[in-house]
Amino acid sequence: PELFLPERPNSKGFDLKHQPTIDLINDARAPFAKHQWASAPLLAGTPQPLDAKPVINPADPADTVGTVANTSPADIETALSNAAPWDASPEERAKVLNKVADLYEENFGELFALLAREAGKIWIDEVAELREAVDFLRYYAANAPETPPVGVFTCIAPWNFPLAIFTGQMAAALAAGNAVLSKPAEQTPLIAHFAVSLMHKAGVPKHVLQLLPGGGDIGAALTSDPRVGGVAFTGSTATAMKIRKAMAENLAPGAPLIAETGGLNAMIVDSTALPEQAVAAIVESAFQSAGQRCSALRCLYVQDDIAEPFLKMLKGAMDALSIGAPWDISTDCGPVIDETARKGIADHIQQARAEGRLLHELKTPNSGTYIAPSLIKVDGIDQMKREIFGPVLHVATFGSEELDKVIDTINATGYGLTFGLMTRIDDRVQHVTERVNAGNMYVNRNQIGAIVGSQPFGGEGLSGTGPKAGGPHYLARFSAAPASQQGS
Ligand code: GLU
Repeated sequence: PELFLPERPNSKGFDLKHQPTIDLINDARAPFAKHQWASAPLLAGTPQPLDAKPVINPADPADTVGTVANTSPADIETALSNAAPWDASPEERAKVLNKVADLYEENFGELFALLAREAGKIWIDEVAELREAVDFLRYYAANAPETPPVGVFTCIAPWNFPLAIFTGQMAAALAAGNAVLSKPAEQTPLIAHFAVSLMHKAGVPKHVLQLLPGGGDIGAALTSDPRVGGVAFTGSTATAMKIRKAMAENLAPGAPLIAETGGLNAMIVDSTALPEQAVAAIVESAFQSAGQRCSALRCLYVQDDIAEPFLKMLKGAMDALSIGAPWDISTDCGPVIDETARKGIADHIQQARAEGRLLHELKTPNSGTYIAPSLIKVDGIDQMKREIFGPVLHVATFGSEELDKVIDTINATGYGLTFGLMTRIDDRVQHVTERVNAGNMYVNRNQIGAIVGSQPFGGEGLSGTGPKAGGPHYLARFSAAPASQQGS
């Protein structure tokens, strides 16, 4: 894995012009507290979208955030037949993408409001997400390649980073000169529509960037048409496998798939770790963004001789978290994205409760799709059959002679996204780095929040195809392979 130590480089891109103070954020979001947005296909041609449906705030069933009219079959055909790569020099493309970044910064109040009300993000996540989106735009703009584009790229984004990852995929494809067919997550069409409108306003031509909101059927159509040249996807491992199959059957043999998928991420805390530092890192890694990051910590291994006092301290830190509305500036943990997600996670917790493995649980607010942070005892990560995408931390213990066995069990999951190690033994850092399979390994710090340009993000095995987002190799996959690599 690529190893990251506690020094946290500053974000180079987004600058709020002031410190992102609470007053500044409150004032900027306030005009949009009751605003209603609308989303529909944005095409190079006349859309014939389907009937509009309401989009509801996950924290408050009474708050309709806007409406979405999904993409119809006729719209898909309009998009595919009008899509054409960006006929502009790398410098011109970079200029437009930097202009998009400027517009994102200027519109931060509206973007924060959308992130809060449509995606359930708390203010700290709103700031981080806008920074990351702007960083992606400026980073890929700065590296816009001369090489010819692949052609038409389908970008399928997740709801957990409806601005940052949504923007990052498109910014890379566009920096390389591709036409983009953008399919946002079904849960977050409003922020997608606003972001793509800003991109068009900045000068990305309509035939170069088209927005096609909708569900899995739209994604399936956009990954199985021979006019598509490549796909960038972030979402579940199972969906990535379906996309790979559809591409193999319908697209050119060399069509690139860049997939960033799930993880079963572990952290090991040995008996030399500083408990206060480890507890703070664990709370952030497992519960920030309500645990809805693919980088999030899912299974914590604590060395058995410190486990008792350590878990006591962890429970105490959890008790200090405030669970509630994302709009409320004092909230640490907001809702999960929707009722389907809530129910899946709640069932998992219920099963642990029935089996006597629920170690700790906070109180859940009454309405809205909330899951309060909880701790579940497991014997090891091998007991976890799937990624639980929410604020649920599984805890196992290990003996002083069992470190290698633990790492082998972690590797055996087949995933390899993030990994955390808390230790004060230097040799151990070296040893674990050599043994563990993970894209990003973090030592003596949290294991979320990779920073564009300095901490490229991506996994191995079931966690993704690489190359890492926000790293030096990512853009190359959005360019046509040089003639020398195309076979004879
Ligand atoms: N890049 C994010 C992080 O480092 C995670 C991305 C994701 O959840 O898909 O936390």
